[in-house]
Amino acid sequence: MTLVPFDDRDGFIWYNGALIPWREAKFHVLTHALHYASAVFEGERAYNGQVFKLTEHSQRLIDSGKILGFDIPWTAEQIDQATRDTIAANGMTDCYVRPIAWRGAEQMGVAAQQTKIHLAIAVWAWPSYFSPEMRAKGIRLNLSPWKRPHPETAPTQSKAAGLYMIGTLSKHSAEGAGYTDSLMLDWRGYVAEATGANIFLVIDGKIHTPIPDCFLDGITRRTVIGLAKARGYEVIERRITLEEFANTQEVFLTGTAAEVTPVGEISSEAFDYRFTPGPVTAALIADYDKLVGRA
Ligand code: PMP
Repeated sequence: MTLVPFDDRDGFIWYNGALIPWREAKFHVLTHALHYASAVFEGERAYNGQVFKLTEHSQRLIDSGKILGFDIPWTAEQIDQATRDTIAANGMTDCYVRPIAWRGAEQMGVAAQQTKIHLAIAVWAWPSYFSPEMRAKGIRLNLSPWKRPHPETAPTQSKAAGLYMIGTLSKHSAEGAGYTDSLMLDWRGYVAEATGANIFLVIDGKIHTPIPDCFLDGITRRTVIGLAKARGYEVIERRITLEEFANTQEVFLTGTAAEVTPVGEISSEAFDYRFTPGPVTAALIADYDKLVGRA
């Protein structure tokens, strides 16, 4: 696979209020966010020119910033419009959208009260997070050596860049061992989520998913819970242990990028749980595709 680096592309990036050429969207190395992870971001997706749940994402970005102690100097409405302008400027209809807000270079040190808050929005073509073959068979997850932290240990309800430190380490542990993604447990040892997507289990026709009390309550998670209930499925939010995968028929992940992705295997040296993508997953994939307007 040839990688085109993200700083070596053409197009336009919305940067602090204006659309500027892609290659000029830079910041100084002594930027607070780079050293102290004072950044929050979003992952969104446009289908046929419309960002799915745009305002919810813009609002979550603002809320994430507040949790890190800063106010993004644009309203959700302004961020929505900036997002639409960025998509139009790049001539895109189906794309991934990445807004990011961060503390600037005015102060270097742990304290950052005087830093300016910056906002940038970039969009790029990104058709599928997991390949269609992987999605048909179900992806393979290893067990992450990292745990989702206690809410008093990290700002777990913020989509904060710093929380992805263990995400990247987990994903690398999976890829290094031939898996696609990693299942993360929480600080108590309960099932939490994958590195960038929430998790659901189908047990005897009912849908179970962990309570998002120390990780992101995904916008896709909430959407899929709604779709499942509309179909008449019972959805139970509760604490789930790893051993329960032994009695689980279907497993799937949800996320803006993952959409609804079946899981075929969760394994480690100590256990090997296998699942076959089944009717519940298939129904929710179809409903989600319809909702987002995929042709
Ligand atoms: N958990 C993590 C760690 C994520 O990065 C994401 C993707 N934003 C999700 C869950 C799913 O969230 P959403 O459905 O809002 O994309």
